Amino acid sequence: MRFTRRKFIRLTSSGLILPLMGPINLLAQTEGYGKIALSEEALRIHREALLIDGHNDMPGNILDKKLNLNPGFTLNEEQAELQTDIPRLRKGGVDAQVFVAYISPEHMRTGGGNEICIKQIELIHSLVKSHSDDLELALSAKDIPAISSQGKIAVLVGVEGGHAMENDLKNLERYYELGARYMTLTHNENTDWADASYDAPRHGGLSSFGKKVVKSMNKMGMLVDVSHAADDTVRDVFRVSSAPVIASHSSARAICSSRRNLTDELIQGIADTGGLVMINFFPLFLVPEGGEVEAAYIEHYAALRARNLPPEEFQEEMQAWEKKQPPMPVCYVGHLVDHIDHVVRVAGIDHVGLGSDYDGITYGPVQMPDVSGFPYVTQELLNRGYGTSEIKKILGGNFLRVLEEAEKS
Ligand SMILES: [Zn+2]
Repeated sequence: MRFTRRKFIRLTSSGLILPLMGPINLLAQTEGYGKIALSEEALRIHREALLIDGHNDMPGNILDKKLNLNPGFTLNEEQAELQTDIPRLRKGGVDAQVFVAYISPEHMRTGGGNEICIKQIELIHSLVKSHSDDLELALSAKDIPAISSQGKIAVLVGVEGGHAMENDLKNLERYYELGARYMTLTHNENTDWADASYDAPRHGGLSSFGKKVVKSMNKMGMLVDVSHAADDTVRDVFRVSSAPVIASHSSARAICSSRRNLTDELIQGIADTGGLVMINFFPLFLVPEGGEVEAAYIEHYAALRARNLPPEEFQEEMQAWEKKQPPMPVCYVGHLVDHIDHVVRVAGIDHVGLGSDYDGITYGPVQMPDVSGFPYVTQELLNRGYGTSEIKKILGGNFLRVLEEAEKS
């Protein structure tokens, strides 16, 4: 199956297609879950901890909405059209944020993937420069605590979509030089060298060039990110990679059957490399019912595409179908922390982190609509009996360790 960006459909970089109207048919309550209150103790632990969020799509969202062209555009004020800005990063206690350059799979057909990748990385650099009182670029693990201790937010660069490099390892090297410290091998569609989780298998995992890409990333100290990759691609990465492997924004398939989520076997495999599963905050990847909704969306979307309808008719049909769908349960912080619990049970406390995907998702859990909501994760972890040192590992300590390891190997 193939999905392409169309004006009337928002293909979120989280990987799920959602109509522009966003979530509808929400039920008010899910049994056993609800809003939680922040305690002084949780806020204290949260302040002390180094919070590193592994995935945020703000750069692409700024370019899509042309916000950077507005005179006086600044991240110093609340940006209603974004889920991210400096006041909310501060409120969320974020010490380091990975901003990604997201490259739509559409560029495999239209070209220009490398150009859009560089453009987004340059946007990240220019935002850091124009907000230098609050933001500073981090190029290595040791930079993160150093920048944080100056009261600034460390900004890291990631690349989302291996097709950006247009099959040229020189482009990959260029991304590293520009600060990129991880790259997802695929987005929703297979690249010429790696299969994606939402596409029909073409290579059975990684092609021989795909293996070369992984080895080159290892050599440079760029983390290999398996979010969005097909299961067989992830297995091939385990065979090839000499460095810890990450999933920068993926949740657990045992709880929610989304194909974007990781099976227990893959979670264990990531842990065996010394790597990290960073939980995605998108409700449809978290609540147990989300997988069915995703499967129904994918199936219906593909069937409609096959009918070659005019765009307006396609949109009407999608919306009519959506209105008929059963209500979705609301996603609370507890649903998100269920995924953290699960990865801890399967792989241990050292192999889980946070990869919110804000600005790549249409909405977040209740109380966590944007980057200001991170303290609720700390609260729920505390409520469930996690100790301070364990919470600190989940919030950022694990990512720091994995980045350090990748630099060494
Ligand atoms: Zn994504």
